[in-house]
Amino acid sequence: MKNNNPYNSGLEQNKANFRPLTPIEFIQRAAEVYPHHPAVIYGDITRNWEQTYRRCLKLADALSRRGIGVGDTVSALLPNMPELLELHFAVPMIGAVLNAQNTRMDADTIAFMLDHSDCNVLFCDREFSDLASNALNSCAKPPLVIDVDDPTFNGGRPLGELSYQQLLLEGDENYVWQAPADEWQAITLNYTSGTTGNPKGVVYHHRGAYLNATSNIIGQNLPPQAVYLWTLPMFHCNGWCYPWAVTAVAGTHVCLRHLRADQVYQAINRYGVTHFCAAPVVLNMLLNAPEEQKTYFDHPVTVTTGGAAPPASIIEGMEKIGIQVVHAYGLTESYGPSVFCAFQSEWKDLKLEQKAEKMARQGVKAPALSALMVADPISLQPVPMDGISMGEVFIQSNTLMKGYLKNTQATTEAFQDGWFHTGDLAVRHPDGYIEIKDRAKDVIISGGENISTIEIEDLLYRHPDIFEAAVIAKPDEHWGEVPCAVVTLKGPEQGADPKIVTEQQIINFCRDRIAHFKCPKQVIFAPLPKTSTGKVRKNQLRALLQKG
Ligand code: AMP
Repeated sequence: MKNNNPYNSGLEQNKANFRPLTPIEFIQRAAEVYPHHPAVIYGDITRNWEQTYRRCLKLADALSRRGIGVGDTVSALLPNMPELLELHFAVPMIGAVLNAQNTRMDADTIAFMLDHSDCNVLFCDREFSDLASNALNSCAKPPLVIDVDDPTFNGGRPLGELSYQQLLLEGDENYVWQAPADEWQAITLNYTSGTTGNPKGVVYHHRGAYLNATSNIIGQNLPPQAVYLWTLPMFHCNGWCYPWAVTAVAGTHVCLRHLRADQVYQAINRYGVTHFCAAPVVLNMLLNAPEEQKTYFDHPVTVTTGGAAPPASIIEGMEKIGIQVVHAYGLTESYGPSVFCAFQSEWKDLKLEQKAEKMARQGVKAPALSALMVADPISLQPVPMDGISMGEVFIQSNTLMKGYLKNTQATTEAFQDGWFHTGDLAVRHPDGYIEIKDRAKDVIISGGENISTIEIEDLLYRHPDIFEAAVIAKPDEHWGEVPCAVVTLKGPEQGADPKIVTEQQIINFCRDRIAHFKCPKQVIFAPLPKTSTGKVRKNQLRALLQKG
């Protein structure tokens, strides 16, 4: 190596050639290049990019006049509505941090999050006024509350000193925002669901948000001016970074307050939706909607699914109704999607069932990811690529969180040995694609063998009378643990005639198709409790089993 590298001397970074990466630039460009293109549609409201950008500038200015700035937290208890999209740009414009809260949390958890983040301002929708008011009552230092008025929603009550509309009037649309001095500056805060103990506050930075948004564009083939339907909650990992990704392609955000199958089908047709994201439970709901609610599309529609493993039968079902599926895997800590099941052209020639099986695997590195490995959690030795050896999934990426807010110990543990520890167990196939087998805490160890609950669930979803299924470990004197299935049968809500299906029939169905030691030893017929992001609450099912 030369002592004086000529490619360094006199070639320093300067203000022109080195800018902090920030997704705020996406909206500025959309407004400059496509000012009249629809940015957002919500019921009767349609606003173009120029109008939306102006509203963001006013909001940023108004918040800044009220003393909000770098290091402050602005929280939101809002459904998927235009105002939440605007907050994704206006709050970072003033250097503050957006905390979009999970609207299905209980009041105590919301109070915890408001206090823990030293929240300065809370934007609240009337639908959540009781929840917010209970939370605020137990807050140590209640924030300024701003009501977001939605003429389409009746009910609830205003809680705050002023409304969003009034706040906008305090701001100037000529506000000049500055990119953060450092792209590592915090942009958003997302709390994990906290199934055990208090939730952890995952902090995102401007650079990661910019990179994951662009990674989504490449990974999900998001074209210029995509029409994107908001079925995924915007509060879940900032809607997997889609507020920024869709804006980067100057697309149109179609917002829906409530997730209902008929409304999703109607919106796809009415607005020519090209893309949406949804957890597998939502796809299952769409597939099992009564026939009269379903409409068929004559334009290409792509859904990105993730958040839980999609059974191959659901991928198959979506493709049959003309919706292309992209399967993605990620965590709150990784800004949502960080692994995609990249489609290989030779899969096109496979039978649908085999194609869906390939696509149900989680896949390979997203474009922004630096490294993905499945390895032994102690030695960090990668497992062989044989589709059988199980290890933990580890990630290195510029699209990983800064860390957990005010929790150094958890941050250090998560990043130990220079890798992010996902806590998910997977195998790696000979073609390099990873397949998640379980959360480490859910895997069943029976007579010394690991049994993947996802594999059994995948099979149960192929049973013609089963609507939903989850598998958990049941303590067993002889084997240590054995699989227990909890299932819900299809009924009138899914347009099916109620059928009598017995426990033994379901066990036999499995015994005819997989190794007997993997088959459920017990089947419970019960509804599945789920989180608002579409995950089955297996801890509650285990508690149900203990109660007997
Ligand atoms: P959250 O932080 O709430 O988004 O949850 C992240 C967890 O969801 C991961 O650690 C996985 O256990 C699970 N998960 C996300 N996407 C997938 C997927 N495509 N397949 C299987 N599990 C997934």
